Amino acid sequence: MNEVKLLDTLKEYFGYEKFRPLQKKIIQSVFDGKDNLVIMPTGGGKSICYQLPAILLPEITLVISPLIALMKDQVDGLNANGVPAAYLNSSQTEDQREAIFKQIENKELKLIYVAPESLQIVDRFLVDGKVSLIAIDEAHCISSWGHDFRPAYTQLGYLKNRFPSTPILALTATADKATRNDICRQLNIPAAKKHIASFDRKNLSLEVKPGIKRFEQIAKFLKNRTSESGIVYCLSRKTTEELAAKLKAKGFKAEAYHAGIDHDQRSQIQDDFINDEKQIICATIAFGMGIDKSNIRWVIHYNMPKNLEGYYQEIGRAGRDGLESETLLFHSYADVIQLQKFASNAKNEEVQLAKLDRMKQYSEALSCRRKILLGYFGEYLQEDCGNCDICRNPPEFFDGTIIAQKALSCIYRLKASEPISVVIDILRGSQNEVVRKNNYQELSTYGIGKDISWQNWQQYIIQLINLGLLEIAFDKNNHLQLTENAKSVLFSKEKVFLADVKQQVEKAEKDKKE
Ligand code: ADP
Ligand code: ZN
Repeated sequence: MNEVKLLDTLKEYFGYEKFRPLQKKIIQSVFDGKDNLVIMPTGGGKSICYQLPAILLPEITLVISPLIALMKDQVDGLNANGVPAAYLNSSQTEDQREAIFKQIENKELKLIYVAPESLQIVDRFLVDGKVSLIAIDEAHCISSWGHDFRPAYTQLGYLKNRFPSTPILALTATADKATRNDICRQLNIPAAKKHIASFDRKNLSLEVKPGIKRFEQIAKFLKNRTSESGIVYCLSRKTTEELAAKLKAKGFKAEAYHAGIDHDQRSQIQDDFINDEKQIICATIAFGMGIDKSNIRWVIHYNMPKNLEGYYQEIGRAGRDGLESETLLFHSYADVIQLQKFASNAKNEEVQLAKLDRMKQYSEALSCRRKILLGYFGEYLQEDCGNCDICRNPPEFFDGTIIAQKALSCIYRLKASEPISVVIDILRGSQNEVVRKNNYQELSTYGIGKDISWQNWQQYIIQLINLGLLEIAFDKNNHLQLTENAKSVLFSKEKVFLADVKQQVEKAEKDKKE
């Protein structure tokens, strides 16, 4: 398609002077009749990739979208710009639908938005060769590898057989490599061109802190942010309410938000937040989808998210205006264990557990966090980012072989496996019930780690887990056990390098006192 024509259309219907990175390439590929998969972060400008071709292509464009609210917004927006478009979903009356079917038959529409559940009813009004383009928004919903699997999406594979001559454009904001391939496989577009935009949001700072005294840490965080908008994400409805109440008591304009609050009240809270009437929303993950607020200055995760896709999407709601914004994640083992339990009850348990593991590794990282995060989405940063806590305060490594040997031999000598806390108690020679009951004071390893504080031991053991020398047996009450690799440290004196945690723990202690 002629480039001038594309730019003219962009200007005429959308009011923009130039394309964003990738938009032009994607649109050209659509006009070439190819199948395409687009991975672009939220706010990246995916819609234009199918809306603009839809205006210029001769026949109708079918758009599959799962979010009824967004569908309406988009159609209203298009109509306001003079593009004939309509949508079909379960919220409409029979008469409304009939009117739309008529419009399709009379070729009056350029775009028809359809919820996957309503696809069957529109199907018979569409003819192969008379559909110019099929766009599938939120395409990750088709894959159980994705984080937002929707059963209604799995039937979309039939579209390629039903409309073999129509190019498919699948779009999503979140898809790791496995999900990407799964989307193409399930949609029967194995040769689709993949367009992957950069996910790097340089203006978001990344920070992870131990989840101790979280409220005090948040209160301190907010000291100089009395007018900045932000979101605190929590795992449970109860936590959102408790936290909002505590913040209110401190004088903040905070509000809880979760799916248990009735619909009208929820939209009121959203509006108040968007209009800066409310400063802080304490929310479950129910909050955020489709919220367009550009000046959210910070996002805190009170609890750990269950995977990196969710985490990135949630922190991504901060700083849409491109200005510096901060994110803070609290990391706690109690959360990990809770999420572990949720995942174990899920249908695709293995996938969920693997994703949680990646989330945990990110939280415990000792190298640039952004590198790890972007690496997860298949993007590789050359340089460390300089805008994460690790880059700002890099750990120093030292020969920790003796520390490692103490911990490993302590676990080796236990008859039954024990959780981290008991292992540390033995190393530090603590007197308590578990120790006495099991006669642990008689072990040769009892008290050999007195010189290291409880908290430091915990940090070192986490590092040993991440180095693959120890593992947590989730099937055995989260007990610690040695891995095969531990042998070379125990018996062949292989060296172990540990990050110096004293610095970081001291810093955390200091923060707590302030
Ligand atoms: P996504 O669907 O990827 O989340 P949208 O398509 O909603 O993103 O676009 C996000 C915002 O960027 C919208 O306000 C849109 O109008 C704007 N936008 C898209 N393309 C351009 C462009 N080429 N120039 C300027 N703004 C654009
Ligand atoms: Zn970094």
